[in-house]
Amino acid sequence: MEKLRYERPVINKVLSGLPDKFGAKFRIDPRTDIEGHSVKELLDTYGSPLYVISENTIRNSYRDLYQAFSSRYPKVQMAWSYKTNYLDAVCRIFHREGSWAEVVSWFEYEKALNNGVDPKKIIFNGPHKSAEELRQSILGGSLIHIDHFDELYLILELLQQIPIKAKVAIRVNMDTGIYPHWERFGFNYENGEAWNAINRIMNSEKMEFVGIHTHIGTYIMSTSAYAVAAAKLADLAVRTDRKYDHKVKYIDMGGGFATSNTLKGAYLPGSDTCPSFDDYAEAITGALLSSEIRPEDLPLLILETGRALIDDAGYLLGTVVANKRMASGRRGMIIDIGINHLFTSFWYEHTILPGIPVTSNSEDTQVCGPLCMNIDVIRQAVRFPLLQPGDPVVIERIGAYNMTQWMQFITYRPRIILLGPDGEVDIIREKENLDTFKTHERVPSRLK
Ligand SMILES: *Cc1c(COP(=O)(O)O)cnc(C)c1O
Repeated sequence: MEKLRYERPVINKVLSGLPDKFGAKFRIDPRTDIEGHSVKELLDTYGSPLYVISENTIRNSYRDLYQAFSSRYPKVQMAWSYKTNYLDAVCRIFHREGSWAEVVSWFEYEKALNNGVDPKKIIFNGPHKSAEELRQSILGGSLIHIDHFDELYLILELLQQIPIKAKVAIRVNMDTGIYPHWERFGFNYENGEAWNAINRIMNSEKMEFVGIHTHIGTYIMSTSAYAVAAAKLADLAVRTDRKYDHKVKYIDMGGGFATSNTLKGAYLPGSDTCPSFDDYAEAITGALLSSEIRPEDLPLLILETGRALIDDAGYLLGTVVANKRMASGRRGMIIDIGINHLFTSFWYEHTILPGIPVTSNSEDTQVCGPLCMNIDVIRQAVRFPLLQPGDPVVIERIGAYNMTQWMQFITYRPRIILLGPDGEVDIIREKENLDTFKTHERVPSRLK
């Protein structure tokens, strides 16, 4: 029989809750496996730390979102937001499900082409597109979402040398009742700039005005903000039709839906406050259906949902490095996952769980990363059971933005594996090594 491990007793002051004579009950259930794959074995096989992505969760989230919108509105199209997670394997799952690509840079545009996306199904967003990038994407028939007047004039200039019409849309920003108001992208609705841009486009022979777009922000918990935004875009579509007898092909509501992750400083857990896909769908489709657009003229509704489609599908597994008692008396637990690999720890209180069975004892713990930097803290204070060096931990809901905004700081980026629907485990990005850097760095000959 294996010898039981010693745990130093802890005395916890009972501060809240309904205690019995032994204090408040508090239990953390471990997360020992992900879809039947043992966390410990995954770490032993693929190294620690390790990103894990679940294909089933991606597909289920996509289908839930699509169902919520398509059951309420006749024409719905998803466009995968590349910047949220542009691993080729992840993008291809979305494309197989039917997603177009939504890109905000030429790097992402090239990635989408490389993933086999028809350039006509690439939405090119963002405030900076170079002349050459615009020229190539116009020639490819991509949907160009214009951000500002200088870009509009640049496109007009380029079109003098391009034999085909450009398919353009405008990005619109507006007051939706949530603050701060994102005003730096696109043309403003309230001050008439958006309408002005539409008129300039409609007065050009070389542009085809195909759509109206907005992306009101990210992690938006208010569904009414989307209803306001959809109504304002519908109004622009109606005015365009009245004045020019021209119907836009689509209204693109961008992304921004919240996830069940808990924001720092939030009073309630994200799982209690996050609106459902049905809530968002009801707000957006309700506003479009009750606009003045006639039913037979309803435009395609495009969604560029990022975060809410991928967060739940990602896990970050790691290993305890050490425990220490800090001067304040609080326990410090050092793990091999730092903020360089968990960028979203700056704004989320990530759920961290033990990866092996634990006792019911727990104590206030600061979870620190391995970097030699004071800000490398994954959780300031969390009730956590005692784990020993070498024991596994699991951080949940990390699929959005961490694999694009990660930093390489002082170490190599770890492996990423994909769990397939039939129990497959595939490496979808290799761990970096010294060669990753040697291929890019150059040493001047005098230093060789
Ligand atoms: C980032 C972004 C998205 C995705 O946003 P989420 O908040 O992740 O859903 C969609 N559209 C545009 C234009 C974006 O910049």
